[in-house]
Amino acid sequence: MLGVISDDASFPSSNLATTPCFNMRSFLTVLALSFAVQLAFAQTNFTGDILHGAQVITHLSLEDVPSNAVTRYYLRVPSVSGGWDMQLPVFVARGGPETLKTGKKLSISASIHGDELSPVRVAQELLVRLEEIVPHLNGTVIGIPTVNPTGNYLSQRNYYTASGSGTLTNVNRVFPGEDPDEGSSGPDGLAFIIWNNLWGNTSSVDVAVDIHTSSTGSSAPMWVYSDVRAPYVQRMAELAQPDVLKIDQGEPGSIETTFVEYGVPAITLELGAAKVWYKPFIKRAGDFIDRLMVDLNMLPGNGTTPYVADLSKTYIGNVFHSLPSKYGGFVETLVQLMDDVVAGQEVAIVRNAWGDVLETVTAPVNGKIFQIPSDPATEPGRDVAQLVYNSTTIPDCEAGCIVSSRDAIVR
Ligand SMILES: [Zn+2]
Repeated sequence: MLGVISDDASFPSSNLATTPCFNMRSFLTVLALSFAVQLAFAQTNFTGDILHGAQVITHLSLEDVPSNAVTRYYLRVPSVSGGWDMQLPVFVARGGPETLKTGKKLSISASIHGDELSPVRVAQELLVRLEEIVPHLNGTVIGIPTVNPTGNYLSQRNYYTASGSGTLTNVNRVFPGEDPDEGSSGPDGLAFIIWNNLWGNTSSVDVAVDIHTSSTGSSAPMWVYSDVRAPYVQRMAELAQPDVLKIDQGEPGSIETTFVEYGVPAITLELGAAKVWYKPFIKRAGDFIDRLMVDLNMLPGNGTTPYVADLSKTYIGNVFHSLPSKYGGFVETLVQLMDDVVAGQEVAIVRNAWGDVLETVTAPVNGKIFQIPSDPATEPGRDVAQLVYNSTTIPDCEAGCIVSSRDAIVR
């Protein structure tokens, strides 16, 4: 039995839906429009290269992807210093031929920050599951296991460009990118090619999940950024059943926020610490994607009513409150993730090289410990702890905010 689509009436319908025509004039109009659409969304362009058995492409049209199959491609992105070509691994799962129009199109992207690796395994395991279930798939899934090849290579967050003394760019702040034909930088061109040549400027994506972890040196639970002002986003965030659901306005230029600004429901899913494959969160993320596909009617469900998300262990908050260190030194954390703390409670001690106490950091307000360092080395301005809580009185924070202060914020 098929699952049911969320009853959110404002959820966008497929961009590829066509309109019936009843006379010659409208027929010609549709013909002209379809020609224009074909011009706008050119056919798949194959370079002729084969890499690890997969065809190398510069542009993907979903109509050209085999139906009832999962197909691997390499998407060519801007080359790097020294003339090395770069390609991103991309898989596309298509159900039956008609389901490109009748079903939803889901994007799963991982590791745009090169040190965030549990998301890679989520995408890899999704690929295997899709190969098993693709005959039952009503719709299309586009997966990118690794978005940032230079970040992966250097095992760090950002995209490295070599000119001058080298520059590190956060690719998750430059979407939808800039056209390489206009001379854009590597990271800007990478974003542009993914956005336009793979995601079709949103025409190939109805719903998107971008998967991350916290940065190197930090510990965190499983949580989501969710701009609940956008249709269907709250439902997505709840289906993830995260430890923390952060109501958030997003970051300009991120994959999530760019999709939301273009009218596509999207969340950022965060899976604990960087540089590990943390199996419990990988499993939970995979289960979430399965629930999401059922909710989108892309896969058969177990019942006729929408899944009721279990939020009994989910903390919902709209404020992240960072507590920065005043000194360089070493931080001794006095709390655990998800601990409840009260105003005035000691949460961390910063020591110098001798072990002398430089400062004792206290919680300025009541809250829950959301992020703590795993790397004790610290420096001025680096967070020794982050709190999450809910506030109705901090100005302009109804839709979410992030504050950094050793003092209490108006709440
Ligand atoms: Zn990230």
